[in-house]
Amino acid sequence: MPSEFALIDRYFRRRTRHTVLGVGDDGAIVRPSAGMELVVSTDMLVSGTHFLPDADPEDLGWKTLAVNVSDMAAMGAQPRWVVLAAALPAATESWIEKFSRGFFACADQFGIDVIGGDTTKGPRNFCVTIFGEVPPGQALLRSGAQAGDDVWVSGHVGRAALGLAHLQSRIVLEEPDRSECLAALHRPQPRVALGLALRGLATAAIDVSDGLLADLGHILDESHVSAHLDIPGLPPTGIERECRLSGGDDYELAFTAPAALRGEVEALVERLGLALTRIGSITSGVSPRLTFPDADGNPVEIHPSGYDHFGSGAN
Ligand code: ADP
Ligand code: MG
Repeated sequence: MPSEFALIDRYFRRRTRHTVLGVGDDGAIVRPSAGMELVVSTDMLVSGTHFLPDADPEDLGWKTLAVNVSDMAAMGAQPRWVVLAAALPAATESWIEKFSRGFFACADQFGIDVIGGDTTKGPRNFCVTIFGEVPPGQALLRSGAQAGDDVWVSGHVGRAALGLAHLQSRIVLEEPDRSECLAALHRPQPRVALGLALRGLATAAIDVSDGLLADLGHILDESHVSAHLDIPGLPPTGIERECRLSGGDDYELAFTAPAALRGEVEALVERLGLALTRIGSITSGVSPRLTFPDADGNPVEIHPSGYDHFGSGAN
């Protein structure tokens, strides 16, 4: 196995686009765009918890960065720089080469410079810290939802969990569903363009990493409001319903926007080539927190279960 420094040089040192000083010194130097605020977020991926030990390294490299880019999207920020702290067992170089290929594919797609990190030997673990930019006061927070707002979600939430269920032989997916769901699981597409377009439009936003209801719940809690949901095409029971409501790992955006701006949100569907579905509305007060219509259309309270590392997770 080559030295730590040779590995870094070979697989993690690339030409940067908008960085004063990148990989190679004791620290990186960046110059934020004039007048912008920096948005900072970090996410860790641990073998056995976030990915299987035999995960495809190239997919894993993509996903390691994509989940962090997704946090920038949820903030309405333009992702700009990342640092990568990696613990690697005495892995073969071919594994690291593939991981790096997936990681830089995501960096290139979103115009992000990889500016530093740390590399150490240990159980496989990746921690990315990402920096993005947003005009002052324009970041999308979890705390801005207002009674009367529409609730929206992008893409097709539940696909990643369905893909996982397929891999675990809990269901059998036929084509084209199988490919779509496995792509959602292995190659999540962070909704950066949507996040940027939602500045000044959405009142609150979050990325769906732990399940739609669980993550929407964070918006409700931070905004001190509740929601009545009526999700088009949601099956009344079964695994698809469970995946759509509580499956994690989709990295779509859930957001709220004033009902008066419904037309502007709908216009984004064509502009971005991305499905956006109106799934309910925000109501005042904090209880009942989440309701669905029953067979007669009357609101019934539901209690979501999403993924919680220290609780009883659903997946
Ligand atoms: P130090 O001893 O000062 O911590 P290192 O030897 O850990 O420096 O790192 C050397 C350079 O390589 C630094 O610029 C660091 O940011 C960068 N680096 C280390 N590991 C990674 C990695 N996995 N990805 C990107 N850059 C890395
Ligand atoms: Mg170091």
